[in-house]
Amino acid sequence: MTTQVWEYLTEYENEREDILDAVQQVFGSGRLVLGESVLGFEREFAAYHGVDHCVGVDNGTNAIKLGLQALGVGPGDEVITVSNTAAPTVVAIDSTGARTVFVDVREDDFLMDTDQLEAAITDRTRCILPVHLYGQCVNMSAVKEIADRHGLAVLEDCAQAHGARQSGVVAGSTGDAAAFSFYPTKVLGAYGDGGATLTSDPEVEARMRRLRYYGMDKQYYTVSTPAHNSRLDEVQAEILRRKLTRLDSYVEGRRDVARRYAEGLGDTALQLPRIVPGNEHVYYVYVVRHPRRDDIIERLKTYDINLNISYPWPIHTMSGFAHLDCKAGSLPVTEALAGEIFSLPMYPALDPDRQDKVVHAVREVLETL
Ligand SMILES: *Cc1c(COP(=O)(O)O)cnc(C)c1O
Repeated sequence: MTTQVWEYLTEYENEREDILDAVQQVFGSGRLVLGESVLGFEREFAAYHGVDHCVGVDNGTNAIKLGLQALGVGPGDEVITVSNTAAPTVVAIDSTGARTVFVDVREDDFLMDTDQLEAAITDRTRCILPVHLYGQCVNMSAVKEIADRHGLAVLEDCAQAHGARQSGVVAGSTGDAAAFSFYPTKVLGAYGDGGATLTSDPEVEARMRRLRYYGMDKQYYTVSTPAHNSRLDEVQAEILRRKLTRLDSYVEGRRDVARRYAEGLGDTALQLPRIVPGNEHVYYVYVVRHPRRDDIIERLKTYDINLNISYPWPIHTMSGFAHLDCKAGSLPVTEALAGEIFSLPMYPALDPDRQDKVVHAVREVLETL
């Protein structure tokens, strides 16, 4: 049987009763859209992060897009982020009409190089969008200091960092707003699509609520803002509510898997994830680096192990983002990484015996290089 880089069926086996009970609760509640479960999840997710408000939406891309719009970002503005991220980060910025400006990532931890922010700021810059990539936080004190000095908003892309911490502070509680995805693979995953945006600013919250609901002021049932429909589904919200109580144990499970990889592969030529001092990593993905990545993946094909690359193509090199006019060669660390990284299987329910086989296979392949 193939060892998948991620699967949910083992977790579903363990949690089936609770998940199906959540579905039945919503079906029998008499209210299928924006009911008690969405409200309850919003309350509990905000409380987990110690922020005042949470607005549930239909996916993480819209959590970023609506979050940016609620912060006042629109056509003519610039938003600074990284090219070493999932495409939706930039899809979301693009869809607000703002222009994406990239800075490179750091050689050691692959996260936003905050030393490059200052030089990327122009008089059109409106927002800095740090991506807490792979499960650990960008240096938020540096981001905040620069943003405050230039009067910029900060939106955190927390799609890969549920429960991650920096100096004890949980990801998503530092910026003016923070966007989360609950796509099934994420550290807190739904059984389908979902997303949410956090903020402690009541005006940003009010704008978010309008933006996810036709642009409508619910009190008067009149549209005051051009918008679409981006509601979080009630069933997914109830499932997320149940799973939120287990988020810390999912993170513990991922850390156990990471610990076993470090024990089994720490003495090899693979570069394993480096944790920035003060960061608590949640290992959304377990990304390793080796200059002969493609040879390793080719040879691992005979071992029945499913690997992944997060991400094989830097965003600025994709044809759909040619309009950003960011030339190949301009982000050297991001471009080098894309050819050398790959991800090993990672999910909390990964069986230690299966993981042992992965470790042995990787060791064997490295010895034959
Ligand atoms: C998954 C992800 C998103 C988008 O989330 P969806 O729910 O798939 O729309 C955005 N940013 C990052 C970094 C992600 O990993």
